[in-house]
Amino acid sequence: MAEEFASIFIDGEWRQAASGEMFVVTNPANRDDVIGLFSRGGTQDMDAAVAAAKAAYKGWLRTPAPQRADYVLRVGIMLEQQKEQLAQDMAREMGKTLKECRADVQEGIDFAFFMVGEGRRMYGVTTRSELPQKFSMTVRHPIGVAGLITPWNFPIAIPTWKLFPALIAGCTVVFKPAEDTPWLAMRLIQMFEQVGLPKGVLNFVTGFGEEAGVALVDNPDTRAVSFTGSLEVGRQINEKCGRLMKRCSLELGSKNCLIVMPDADLDLAVEAGAWGAFATSGQRCTATSRIAVHGSIFEEYQERFLARVEGMKVGPGTAPDTELAAVINVKQKERILSYIGIGQSEGAKLLTGGHELTDGEYAKGNFIAPTVFRDMTPDMRIFKEEIFGPVTGFVEIGSLDEAIEIANGTDYGLSCSIYTRDITNTFRAIEELEFGVVYINAPTIGAEVQLPFGGMKNTGNGHREAGPVALDEFTEWKSVSVDYSGKIQKAQMAPDE
Ligand code: NAD
Repeated sequence: MAEEFASIFIDGEWRQAASGEMFVVTNPANRDDVIGLFSRGGTQDMDAAVAAAKAAYKGWLRTPAPQRADYVLRVGIMLEQQKEQLAQDMAREMGKTLKECRADVQEGIDFAFFMVGEGRRMYGVTTRSELPQKFSMTVRHPIGVAGLITPWNFPIAIPTWKLFPALIAGCTVVFKPAEDTPWLAMRLIQMFEQVGLPKGVLNFVTGFGEEAGVALVDNPDTRAVSFTGSLEVGRQINEKCGRLMKRCSLELGSKNCLIVMPDADLDLAVEAGAWGAFATSGQRCTATSRIAVHGSIFEEYQERFLARVEGMKVGPGTAPDTELAAVINVKQKERILSYIGIGQSEGAKLLTGGHELTDGEYAKGNFIAPTVFRDMTPDMRIFKEEIFGPVTGFVEIGSLDEAIEIANGTDYGLSCSIYTRDITNTFRAIEELEFGVVYINAPTIGAEVQLPFGGMKNTGNGHREAGPVALDEFTEWKSVSVDYSGKIQKAQMAPDE
């Protein structure tokens, strides 16, 4: 019998959905392995969660920021203590390799320790008034109830990127995790419960995007929405938030590019391509889905890359030697396979992979062989659209200018990497690439929490998460002036006017 989780947490209490309905979550590497049944929250649950968050807001606003941050510190310590168990469970629920699951939890730990200091800093500015005996400063003000919606590919890290700054800023929260990974998200909420976070400050509703997610965005009392997910859903949320005048920050898809110049260290560039394209089975918003290689080294790079990729051990994320794990669910597997078909029909040449793995140990999982195309051109859908699976493709380039044009040649702009030892190429790339994250001689994946994270163009709407700007998503600036002159002083006017 599968375990049934009352996975909705409202005003400090765990409960089932008002409808009583549940949904099942299974292991991507073995669909017979049921993680559990989770509560399928709907509008009624979401409205109750937002009401609880709204009621808790004033008390949380009045709680000193260092105290708010202290809850995050204690959750960070718990994440550290439970890291191995969480990683093992994540490998079962989300499917990626154990070492990546450990890194996912580690990112949450790092971010907790990074953000906690913000509770004591939260600096504004002081400035001079043009008038005598008048003092001016800025302070951050929490936006109110924040609705957080996350994808499944980083079940701990991405929720922490939103939860920690929202709570430290003074927002109360309603969090809806992805329907494929409610178990790990629940564990994070349980930690906040264990460290004694006041009731109503953090509420949690599991369920589907079209139900619970829509209800969270639509609720007029959700003042800020922070969303990480697909462009398609992000666009809908952006439109709604625009109409409802809500703060909205979006971290969406991308079509990231690795550029390999003739003077690159080829060993490193091959490993960077393989790791960037196939880590998390290509299911990272920063995954290397295009590789632009200079013609003078193209054949050599391709040969070495294929040798590396064809030797990859495909298997369940829970097995220690697995390099390429299962993809998240059957729907996503079908979507990836359909993109592989589109690539072939568009005229790209399939070099390896291109099919699912269904025999023996793969029979009950969502496995796709690592897939590499060549002769990708900018007009092809596989060049422009995010596939979010273990698929990458080569484009041959003749110069740095062409490489930059190829890299910039999609509507997305999250991560781009260049391998070169030439200082001029390096700085020209830094200047001209239209990506929010740029790497020189490092893979397109591997963000660190102390840097702002986010993309240009259709990857987002200008906001950044993490880094020194992490509080911006969840705060307004308030300009405060204190006049102690005992007079009515009029700005921009002479004293006698
Ligand atoms: P998704 O857009 O299908 O779902 C993301 C979340 O939104 C889920 O919690 C889902 O339930 C919810 N949702 C779905 N429809 C909704 C709606 N109409 N209203 C409100 N909420 C709704 O994306 P996914 O498949 O979970 O994740 C993959 C996508 O996320 C990829 O496009 C990937 O690039 C992107 N992603 C981006 C970043 C980044 O930082 N830029 C990071 C990770 C993933």
